[in-house]
Amino acid sequence: MSITIKSKTDLMKMREAGRIAGRALQLAGQSVRPGMTTKELDKIIHDYIVGCGAYPSFLGLYGFPGSACISINDEIIHGIPSAKRKLQAGDIVSVDLGAQLNGFHSDTCATFAVGKISAEAQALLDVTKAALEAGIAKAVVDARVSDISGAVEEYCTSRGYGVVREYCGHGIGREVHEAPEIPNYVTPGRNGVKLQAGMVICIEPMINAGKAAIRQCKDGWTVRTRDGSLSAHFEHEVAITPDGPVIMTDPN
Ligand code: MG
Repeated sequence: MSITIKSKTDLMKMREAGRIAGRALQLAGQSVRPGMTTKELDKIIHDYIVGCGAYPSFLGLYGFPGSACISINDEIIHGIPSAKRKLQAGDIVSVDLGAQLNGFHSDTCATFAVGKISAEAQALLDVTKAALEAGIAKAVVDARVSDISGAVEEYCTSRGYGVVREYCGHGIGREVHEAPEIPNYVTPGRNGVKLQAGMVICIEPMINAGKAAIRQCKDGWTVRTRDGSLSAHFEHEVAITPDGPVIMTDPN
């Protein structure tokens, strides 16, 4: 996998795809309610994206059966939408989705509260979202990938949260997953590539209220925290430009 540099026209097309994903995510957040199955939520997302003339980027990706990855509480990522799985008041639910339009993909995620949630859960959401914002602020021309990784890691570990290491952000374009990888932690001596104008990357902290360790579920997809603690996930797709980071998955 190599890094692709997008032209101005490419970036305009990617912004259109990203806006659809951002709006689908906003709609998902507005739709979440106790008693709803994750399959119902997935259908709302699917129908919205298709209604925009786009295609859900995750549907069929590596064989994934849903339009969105929907992960509840201690599930970190890759939860499969299910007609048997109901959201309950007090849950937190991560919705990760993308839309393909004009040959380009988009990718965004947020973790939503279902009804009233605990102060502990709310703090986790706040920290993970703020870590994403700290990472985005470092996504500027001539910075290194490690500047983003370090900002996310420092924000979370200094507050006692576990930073998931097995999954990370990535470049995006005509493929959902392109180079470079954008880890949420720093490896000493490895600063990663220098960011250039025209690169588009997904920054996506996956943060655990407890320890960082994960476990893979038997369904072959869902990844959970090993200690059973809550996990949150926020993601934006960001273009590197001479004018600073541009959030491609902004719904507005
Ligand atoms: Mg992603």
